[in-house]
Amino acid sequence: MKLAGKVAIVTGGASGIGEETARRFAKQGARAVVIADVQDELGREVASSICRPITKSVYVHCDVTQEDQVKSLVHSTVAAFGQLDVMFSNAGIATSSPSSALPSLSSSGPAQTVLGLDLEAMDRVLAVNVRGTAACVKHAARAMVEGRVRGGSIVCTASVAGSTGGRGMVDYYLSKHAVVGLVRSASVQLGEHGIRVNCVSPYVVATPMALRGFGGEKDAEWVESTVGVNMSLKGVALRAGHVADAVVFLASAESELVTGLDLVVDGGYKGHRR
Ligand code: NAD
Repeated sequence: MKLAGKVAIVTGGASGIGEETARRFAKQGARAVVIADVQDELGREVASSICRPITKSVYVHCDVTQEDQVKSLVHSTVAAFGQLDVMFSNAGIATSSPSSALPSLSSSGPAQTVLGLDLEAMDRVLAVNVRGTAACVKHAARAMVEGRVRGGSIVCTASVAGSTGGRGMVDYYLSKHAVVGLVRSASVQLGEHGIRVNCVSPYVVATPMALRGFGGEKDAEWVESTVGVNMSLKGVALRAGHVADAVVFLASAESELVTGLDLVVDGGYKGHRR
């Protein structure tokens, strides 16, 4: 019970890595898990399925690109459960063209290259991945400081794209570099309040986002075996649960002295790294 008594928010909690992490938070004894997303039906289903005697879970519609919605998410959480201990800022989107994602693995040509960069499409990616994450870090940190929370932990989802370059998806890569920069700065500034700020950086996990990135034509098994070729660790497929375990570690007192870390969960992926 690594999170006994904790109150946590998970953005992007209706699907993929966020959903899996919300389930792990409940299993680890969190007192409350607030699922925040824009997929209302899925979000409600996840919240009701993880409710248990010691864990309350509610769904809150929150578009993280809208600061007032993020502020209200944090305020309603504190009003309902008394405090906020953990913010998992995880909501994110990939480059919008369906043929563009994961260009190093896709057979079709990469989209959002430097030479062909669609700046409006880039703005949409940055709005969710950078502006949304910054709003979550800001309002979670304010609530933790105002509430004099002990052991507050903010975890963001970056990516291996936050420390590498790629053949396409410039918007996604630069957005994830920004998340790592935000985490490092926030960890320096919030340390004096006892708040830790870290990020997790997965390689490809076969979530709905990644499957869409392969044009929706490939199944999870194909993605996992294709991705596995680029990992030095063999015999194990990278799954959302591996990322969720890393988030639980960063959210809990087991990582009491860890802040400003980019915890890479990639099975030893070395592609494009400089
Ligand atoms: P996913 O699509 O399964 O989940 C993302 C969730 O974010 C969805 O439920 C979606 O509705 C939500 N979301 C999108 N825009 C939102 C907004 N404006 N406000 C609130 N919620 C919003 O994908 P996932 O793979 O679980 O992605 C989670 C995070 O992991 C993202 O930040 C993604 O960039 C990152 N990531 C994913 C992979 C991967 O291969 N799957 C690898 C590295 C990093």
